[in-house]
Amino acid sequence: MAPPMSASKFLAALKDEGVTVVEVGDWRHHNRNHKGPWGPVHGIVIHHTVTSGSERTVEICREGHPSLPGPLCHGVITKDGRVHLVGYGRANHAGNGDDDVLRAVIAEKALPPDNEANTDGNRHFYGFECENLGDGEDPWPEAQLDAIERVSAAVCRHHGWTQRSVIGHLEWQPGKVDPRGFTMKSMRARIEERLK
Ligand SMILES: [Zn+2]
Repeated sequence: MAPPMSASKFLAALKDEGVTVVEVGDWRHHNRNHKGPWGPVHGIVIHHTVTSGSERTVEICREGHPSLPGPLCHGVITKDGRVHLVGYGRANHAGNGDDDVLRAVIAEKALPPDNEANTDGNRHFYGFECENLGDGEDPWPEAQLDAIERVSAAVCRHHGWTQRSVIGHLEWQPGKVDPRGFTMKSMRARIEERLK
């Protein structure tokens, strides 16, 4: 359990981990804090966007849409490996997920199956959206996978978490399939290696 880091700390942590950061608009104050709590934070959720085109992807993640207002995450990881900061604070990315999964993340234990949607994830997770069609065929360039590894390690390092605090949306909320095209097991192995 931890309070979220400040926006400045978040930015510094990403840069210290070697992430190429793009600051978009007034990202530090773009959030959904008026709709509910933000924190304590326990982990990170990784997503794919089901979009193509970096500019459009970043725009959608910043603005959202009428039924789901933005920001839809904190950072958008485009295929070139850049991380576009679109918001900070409570963001509409994780939705409701499984309290058993949250308990496992907090305890840094292996994840149980996600079969309930009873817990507010937007309160407890940092979120990164990754530009990908999510069809299982759209490639994940190494630069993009490297950026996922680095942003995850940056946040884990700050909070003293292990790779077990990094989960895919598909491991949090029943019915979700993202991210698709690599396994979270393989990504957690990379993060574990980086954190050593
Ligand atoms: Zn998602």
